[in-house]
Amino acid sequence: MKFMVTSRGDDVSNTLQQRIKRYLLDFGLSYDDEKPEMVITVGGDGTLLQAFHDYSDRLEDTAFVGIHTGHLGFYADWVPDEVEKLVIHIAKTPYQIVEYPLLEVVIRQEGMANSERHLALNECTIKSIGGSLVSTIDIKGEPFEVFRGDGLCVSTPSGSTAYNKALGGAILHPSLASIQIAEMASINNRVYRTVGSPLVLPQHHTCLLKPLNDVDIQVTVDHYTLEHRRIKSLQCRVAEEKVRFARFRPFPFWKRVRESFIRE
Ligand code: NAP
Ligand code: MN
Repeated sequence: MKFMVTSRGDDVSNTLQQRIKRYLLDFGLSYDDEKPEMVITVGGDGTLLQAFHDYSDRLEDTAFVGIHTGHLGFYADWVPDEVEKLVIHIAKTPYQIVEYPLLEVVIRQEGMANSERHLALNECTIKSIGGSLVSTIDIKGEPFEVFRGDGLCVSTPSGSTAYNKALGGAILHPSLASIQIAEMASINNRVYRTVGSPLVLPQHHTCLLKPLNDVDIQVTVDHYTLEHRRIKSLQCRVAEEKVRFARFRPFPFWKRVRESFIRE
């Protein structure tokens, strides 16, 4: 099997990265950072998000597994003490694959013929730079509301425990192929009105955001920020692609939620 190992870049993660690489080479696996079948990340969720984006053009052939070195590690759920056990698992035992849904975002810009397509593992957010964001929200081709406020967050089920959670969104199980729209500080009064609750859309229900006011918009996709630009529309839906995680032991989603947010 072809594998590669990424690191968050700190000393602890780098040392662990080298150890894992050495162990797996000793077991006869081959290192290939062009077309790895297994991507092992050492650091935290941020490291896993980065690796996901590095290999997002070959998700069907890639399985991810994460080790966390002192970070939350919602996705990166192995700890450094378990590294020997993990490498033996990787080298010797058949593993299970669990697939999680992703978010597809298509961005159309003012004065540009081509649209750009992104995949998010956690979420996409849209905010204005200076002033409120005013945006129409269409769902499944029908006008739903005009949003006025700080911004909007559209998340995947596995991303629902990240930014979405801070916005009062629900935590969704990743077996629900869906996306969730959460508001950031909407303006609600006699004049302006939004639904106020987070919305969960199933597969094939596309939501289209069209900023109305002439402000620069900031769009984020997971850990990266796209440059300030004039956005014509942002189209979000459940992606056809899925992310694949290698599972060497059962670690149910709700247990992961409990251990991340209530107690270990
Ligand atoms: P970061 O600032 O280190 O991330 C913030 C925290 O979110 C970290 O503790 C990170 O874990 C954790 N995290 C990432 N994905 C998660 C998930 N699916 N469920 C639960 N926790 C998760 O930046 P980053 O590591 O590059 O991560 C980018 C993410 O930060 C974005 O996708 C967004 O969801 C999140 N974020 C949250 C807020 C907020 O809650 N107000 C604001 C901006 C961005 P690690 O420590 O293991 O990396
Ligand atoms: Mn982080």
